[in-house]
Formats: sequence, structure tokens, C-alpha cells
Amino acid sequence: MNKGKCFLVGAGPGDPGMLTLRGREVLGRADVVVYDNLANPELLGFAPAAAELIYAGKKPGDHFMTQEEINALLVKKTKTGKLVVRLKGGDPYVFGRGAEEAEALAGAGLAFEVVPGISSALAGPASAGIAVTRRGVNEELTIFTGHQDPESEEGRGFYRGMGTHGGTLVMLMGLERLDGITREMQQGGASPDMPVAVVRRATMGDQIVVRGELSKIAAMVRKKGLRPPAIVVFGDVAAEDRALPAARPLSGRRIVVTRSRAQASKLAGALRDLGADVYEMPLIKREPPPDLREFAELAQDAHGYEWIVFTSANGVDSFFEIFDKLYDDAREIGGARFAAVGLATAQSLKQRHYHVDLVAEDFHSDSLAETFRKETDVENVKILVVRPEETSGSLAVNLTKMGAIVDEAIAYRTVPETEDRTRARERFLEEGADLVVFTSSSTVRNFFALKLPLPPNLKFASIGPVTTKTLAEFKAKPSIEAKTQDINGLVDAIAAFCRA
Ligand code: SAH
Repeated sequence: MNKGKCFLVGAGPGDPGMLTLRGREVLGRADVVVYDNLANPELLGFAPAAAELIYAGKKPGDHFMTQEEINALLVKKTKTGKLVVRLKGGDPYVFGRGAEEAEALAGAGLAFEVVPGISSALAGPASAGIAVTRRGVNEELTIFTGHQDPESEEGRGFYRGMGTHGGTLVMLMGLERLDGITREMQQGGASPDMPVAVVRRATMGDQIVVRGELSKIAAMVRKKGLRPPAIVVFGDVAAEDRALPAARPLSGRRIVVTRSRAQASKLAGALRDLGADVYEMPLIKREPPPDLREFAELAQDAHGYEWIVFTSANGVDSFFEIFDKLYDDAREIGGARFAAVGLATAQSLKQRHYHVDLVAEDFHSDSLAETFRKETDVENVKILVVRPEETSGSLAVNLTKMGAIVDEAIAYRTVPETEDRTRARERFLEEGADLVVFTSSSTVRNFFALKLPLPPNLKFASIGPVTTKTLAEFKAKPSIEAKTQDINGLVDAIAAFCRA
């Protein structure tokens, strides 16, 4: 029997936090993802690294797939036994031609499942502070398409009917025909001063809301040069004086996070929690060290050292990935004590339930040697320094000078990320950003190496003095520098800056 299955998954309105748990779960298992231009490409980060990602959206100038081609693609991929996720903006069955895709799959005798999503028809009004129903105001909700031509016989009748329909009306897809549509609604009997709100790119960092009366809204939209995608809300609930609070501290900010994908989630999550529209542009990734066997041997002998020094959180991860493979008992680490350069490094040891005996808060390896000097005598003490290939060996040199017997374990190396699975670089070019966040010197270097044109008013945030110094090499000065050099410190500094 064919084990293939296709899931039609609603991607929600844009904010990646509005994908359902079921949607995320099946994305995490996908072999193939076929996605639309309305589905936030950030969501592709949930798919396995090996998943095949196929873009089925429309882009001006490009060839794009017809609905028939998309149907055929879904059938073909599912037939080969794959788990296919068809990721569609909003809800798959709200004006998304999801029904046609479902029928094509069912018609071919293939297994499929629909995973509903939060439609822009509901999230759009909410994120603009509009409750689609309100007791005593509008107690009925109609969602309709603006896809019909208001100049046609049929379209005219359709929109005139909407004009007298009553209740809250939410229109999808009609922004470019708003002139004709609002005219026909008034012809149908709608009051020219009916409150209307247009919400463009709802739940995204560049969301725009325009409010006005039915007779004036089309001209306002034209004047502002508003382009799709947008939903339009008609009815008393859309009145300016009924607007509900909808903003969070970082709402309306587009922030680029440049860490490696494996590391970005905590930072991205904290910023999203404050309402920012975050997109991840991984510029570095961690790779195994050039001599993996030597590293493994040192990790195996780790219990023979009095101290193990970690210079980065990545070093902690690399070390324990190997250590945990070699031993199935954490106590095999023996009596070794742990030292960490930087709070983030210490934190990742603590997360693994290891006590950290010595921390150099300063992000310099040299400051750790200083801390050792102050705290303890290292004469004839065996120390293992776990570090990436690309940093200097000055910590080992300094500790050796102090009389210690030092081995260095080269745990990983940091290389530029060449893939752009979530199309973040494209997004940066097309939509720009307000802020780029750097958590290391290597992300700074790789960012400038890309030579992306920088949008006007783009600002930079830096995790600390070392990263700031690297920015200066590129004649860039961060507007924000974290006071404590960890993710919380960075998020606090960004929030404080945006509030000011
Ligand atoms: N299935 C989707 C709708 C697809 S039709 C859903 O349930 O949301 C495409 C239309 O959806 C767009 O023309 C626009 O009217 C609306 N839309 C989708 N995402 C939107 C967003 N983030 N902000 C405003 N409108 C959006």
C-alpha cells in the first residue's frame, strides 16, 4: 500500500506563531513542502533540513504554476510515498482553492488530511483591533470575495446585495477593485458613511490599517498606494472609536536574526513574544572539527582533567553531542570542574544540569585566564580547553604560562551559511527590515560579505563590545548594545530602544 499522504495545512495569516500545533507537527515530518506566497516562509524552518521545498506562489515576471500544475504536483509527490505538506496562507478552504486540491488527491485515491488555519478574514480584523462581532453592534459575520468584476452584470448584483446585507462584512482579494465595489455597495443601498477598515499584511511587521467611510475609502487606499494582500472590513465594528488595543511593544518592527538556525530560536522567540515580525537569516553554521577523531578522544578522556573550559555555547553542544554518544552515564565526566567564557556559555552548561564553577563574564578568553589567576592556583593542574577552530589559542597559552598543563579540544568550526531555505535574503531585498541583530563577529562579517543593499534607516543591534568592534570594521555603529552579554540582555536592550 502507498504510504504517501498529503496534508493541506493552513499557514495562518502571516505571524508564524499563528500556525496550529497540528500544522507544525506535520511540517516537522514533511518530505516535501509545497508553499504559497501568502504562507510565511519562516515556517519552512520547521521542516526537516532534508525536506524538498517547492515554491508554488506567484511572483511578477516569473513563471508560476497553474492550479492544474499544483494539483498534478501534489498527486505525483504523494504517489511516490512521501509525506507532502501543502502549506497555504490563512485557512486552506477559505478562498484558497483548497477544495480543488483535496478533490484531486481524493480522486487519485490518495490519503489526505486538512489542517485548518487561522484565516486572514478573522486574524486581519483582530490584529487591527476590530472585533468582528460585538453584542448590540454587529451580530452577524459575512466573508465574501472581491474577486468578481464590479463592471460585470453578475458582479454588480453581487456587490449591491452585499451593500444591503447588514452585519459585519469582511472582503478578501478585492483591494484593486475597491472603487467599483464600494460604488456598487452604495448603489445597493449601503450608507456612504458606513465605517470601513482596510488591513494590509495583517499580523506582519509592516501591517497597515486605513480607516474611512464607505464613500471615501477607495480614494484613501489609492492615495496611500496600498497594494494587496489586504482584507476590508465593513460595518459599525470597524468604526475608529470602537478600535481595541492590539499592539505589543515591538509590533510593527521587522527584525532580522542572523544566528545559526540551531541557535536562533530563543532570540527569535523572545522578540516575537514582544510582537516583532522576526525573520531568521542564518549566516553561520556549526560544522564538525577538521579532526573529529582527536576531538572524540579528548572528550573520552575528559574525566582525566581537573578543569574543562568552554569558550562558547556551541562548544558545549559539540562536546556533549560526542560525550553523550560515548557514554550513557553523565557521571563519566568524573570530578572535572567546569569553567565558561561568557554568561551564555555558562547558561548552556546549566541547561544540561552541570554546575559551573567559574565564569568569566567578560566575553574575552583572556579574561578567563585572569579569573583563574584570582580564584585558584593552576600550577600543575590539568585543564582541557574546548574551543572552535577559528579562535586563537591565547587562553591555552596564558594558562600554560601560569603553570597549568593544558590540552586543547577543537570542537567545531564555524562556516558561512550558504543556504537560504526560508528566503530571508530575498525578503530583506523586497521588504527591507528595521533592525539586524548580531550575536557574534562572524555573523557581522558574513552579513557584509553578502553585499545586500541596505534599506534606509536600517539599524543594528550588537550583543557586546567584541561584536560592536567588528561592526566598526565595516563602518557600522550599532544603535543598540546589550548591557549583559546574553540573549535576555540583548532582548531587553532592543525593547528599551524601541520603547524610547
Ligand atoms: N486562504 C486565505 C485567503 C486566500 S485568498 C485565508 O484564509 O486567509 C488571498 C487573500 O487573502 C488576499 O487577497 C487578502 O485579501 C487575504 N489575505 C491573506 N493574508 C493576508 C494578510 N496577512 N493580511 C491581509 N490580507 C490577507
